[in-house]
Amino acid sequence: MLVESFSPQTRTNNKLQITTDFVVVGGGLAGVCAAIAAARNGSKVVLIQDRPVLGGNASSEVRVWALGATSHMGNNNRWSREGGIIDEIMLENLKVNKDGNPIIFDAVLLDKVAAEPNIQLLLNTAVYLVNKSAERKIGSVVAFCSQNSTEYTVSAPLFCDATGDGLVAFNAGASFRIGAESRDEFGEQLAPVQASDQLLGHTLFFYSKKLDHPVKYIAPKFAYTHQQISAIPRSKNIQGSDSGVKFWWVEYGGIHNTITQTEEIKWELWKIVYGIWDYIKNSGKFEDVENLTLEWIGTVPGKRESRRFNGEYMLKQQDIVEQTQFADAVSYGGWAIDIHPSEGIYSDKPACSQFHSKGVYQIPYRCFISKDIDNLFFAGRNISASHMAYGSSRVMITCAHGGQAVGTAAALCKQNSISPKSMLNPEYMHSLQQQLNMFGHGIPNVPLAQQTNLAKQARISASSELELKQLLPSGEYIPLTQGCAQLMPFNQGMAPVMKLKVKAQTETQLKVALRVSVKAENYTPEIDLKTIELNLVAGEQTITLDFSSVEIAAQYGFVTFYPNAAIELAISEQRVTGFMPVFNKMHKAVSNTGKQTMPVESGIESFEFWTPERRPKGQNLALQFEPAFKLHPLSHITNGYLRPWKQSNTWAASFNDKHPQVKFCWPEPVNINQITLFFDTDSDHALETVLMLHPESEMPYCVQNYRIKQADGTTLLEVVGNYQTVNKHTLAQAIQVDELVFEFDQPSDLVPASLFQIEIH
Ligand SMILES: Cc1cc2nc3c(=O)[nH]c(=O)nc-3n(C[C@H](O)[C@H](O)[C@H](O)COP(=O)(O)OP(=O)(O)OC[C@H]3O[C@@H](n4cnc5c(N)ncnc54)[C@H](O)[C@@H]3O)c2cc1C
Repeated sequence: MLVESFSPQTRTNNKLQITTDFVVVGGGLAGVCAAIAAARNGSKVVLIQDRPVLGGNASSEVRVWALGATSHMGNNNRWSREGGIIDEIMLENLKVNKDGNPIIFDAVLLDKVAAEPNIQLLLNTAVYLVNKSAERKIGSVVAFCSQNSTEYTVSAPLFCDATGDGLVAFNAGASFRIGAESRDEFGEQLAPVQASDQLLGHTLFFYSKKLDHPVKYIAPKFAYTHQQISAIPRSKNIQGSDSGVKFWWVEYGGIHNTITQTEEIKWELWKIVYGIWDYIKNSGKFEDVENLTLEWIGTVPGKRESRRFNGEYMLKQQDIVEQTQFADAVSYGGWAIDIHPSEGIYSDKPACSQFHSKGVYQIPYRCFISKDIDNLFFAGRNISASHMAYGSSRVMITCAHGGQAVGTAAALCKQNSISPKSMLNPEYMHSLQQQLNMFGHGIPNVPLAQQTNLAKQARISASSELELKQLLPSGEYIPLTQGCAQLMPFNQGMAPVMKLKVKAQTETQLKVALRVSVKAENYTPEIDLKTIELNLVAGEQTITLDFSSVEIAAQYGFVTFYPNAAIELAISEQRVTGFMPVFNKMHKAVSNTGKQTMPVESGIESFEFWTPERRPKGQNLALQFEPAFKLHPLSHITNGYLRPWKQSNTWAASFNDKHPQVKFCWPEPVNINQITLFFDTDSDHALETVLMLHPESEMPYCVQNYRIKQADGTTLLEVVGNYQTVNKHTLAQAIQVDELVFEFDQPSDLVPASLFQIEIH
């Protein structure tokens, strides 16, 4: 038993000193990915998170669905889901949590961090102080955990501020901005004429649940009344059946200080959301709400905007719209520039305005390093971006992807004993980009180019290579009530003749065009290479689309069928990498009305949206090709591209090769200790973390079972049940081989076995 007598002096709390290689403050998705990346690249990391679980706004405490460049699959960013660690996390979440339970997503993140021996995780621990070791250098951060009454002083040569509000950078004295830049400052045509201090606000959500009996609801006294709720201009958006992030428009605080007044903002939001729930339950205006009960209500407001710190470069509107190419590109984004009125829910303007670009844009390394503090990185919404560019870069999967770049850079800084700024040296930058891509990061226009890949020195052969004569018709048809296009890659040269079965209700005309993007890497149909008009008779018939006079570059093309409600097109259930049907349709959630029409002076481009359907829909058109198409050659598996980009970039076996093999033969024996395979996990498919139900727990294109065999037939490695993009195998000890055979099981009868890349080291 411990009995302590009175102390005339104040007592001090338990104190711990920790020294490490890299400190990440803030355990949102950006901080989590920064910590894991550094740890996997050999750095000792302390990850400090002030709340009980990880994930920040994506955690079960807030429940925003994590999104990025895929933009709910509602714009023209095809195959844009971010690669690397966040991809691994999202695929893991899909495997265990396809119905989007936020509690399970918490566990996925905790599991990933707990699996890293190099990470020391301090939960419930808030950093509140920074000690500098020099004018431009942080020496340590001081944090307190109220659960174990312990004060931590954590010292390291490198720090990352992933706190959202930028507490570390602020305390360290780094220069920053709050508000919106004027139009003139960076020539951003969408920006306000005058600089302003207005911001995006906070939001609180609630979840409801249907019971098998009526549930009464009595609101707390602080909740707003029905009259007050119905007076809010956006109250017309309220749906009794909606939950969570569907109420993203319950936004407040953008006209206040979103850091120091957060508690006041939260109280206002509580008054609103408890008031909304009371309005739903008791106003009599909503049907079928008797059995609904309030399951959860947020206590931590989701923050959108506060400080943005000055880096060595500031991302701006033009970089997003013009898709600027940067030599130091380490990440990318693709969410629209998404700006909200700062009065939030009390504004009578639309709750958000989203301005899309024609494709994804690069984010340079310089946005992630402090201009002022030599050993400080930023990750998350506080990176160096103008208010306009932040409107896009702030979404969580984009934040997470940048976080991986930061963590990897920190580890390389340690390995080379250099500062974050020195990483800008082209040699170091190349190794950072390559290291990122080895984890499947997928920086646009930056292929994997490992000189040490032994696969490139081998003679490679395969048991088969997909030759596409036809996507087999399933017998089903889709009505041509909206514009429909088969998106597919083309080889450089003359396009093939295509045939398709169609049904017409009456005699009618069908208009079909072969269209491409101006930039070969985009998926925005802008140029009509050839238009064909066909007279159809009533009934079923096979049409011929003769595009053989069209010379096309190696890029994606749209075989575009203009709407005609009297016509139906034959579809196929077969799925092949690089092939997908897209539709000229609206997607309200991302302000897509089928076409973005913007005045030239906005600096935003006008173009059509052609977007896919989510599975189980989204079947390809059952096209026949003459001559047969070879779009998935074996040469792709060493070309360095890890996702569809200008070409399919996969090798695919033929549909009837159930266990295809790829063989590597070296003229002289080689020593290998690491084999990495990059599979197709459908990077087009958005994997929202909450509310959205996903139709499957593994991606249908992904090879699940494979074996790697040596020349004598012995199995070196066998994998069963894979669902991840990147499969990295490090051998216990190096072996010498002159032949390796990779044998894959076809994922299903409808999908051929395929693979982007094999790296052998
Ligand atoms: C209502 C709403 C809707 C949104 N819609 C979307 C959407 O649909 N999809 C999307 O992806 N994004 C969306 N966003 C934007 C996105 O959620 C944020 O921009 C994003 O969370 C930023 O990520 P982050 O890692 O920088 O910050 P956060 O997710 O906020 O993570 C920062 C973490 O740092 C921790 N922290 C802060 N201070 C300290 C400290 N002193 N010590 C230790 N830890 C600290 C915090 O607790 C937090 O966990 C939305 C935001 C809101 C609020």
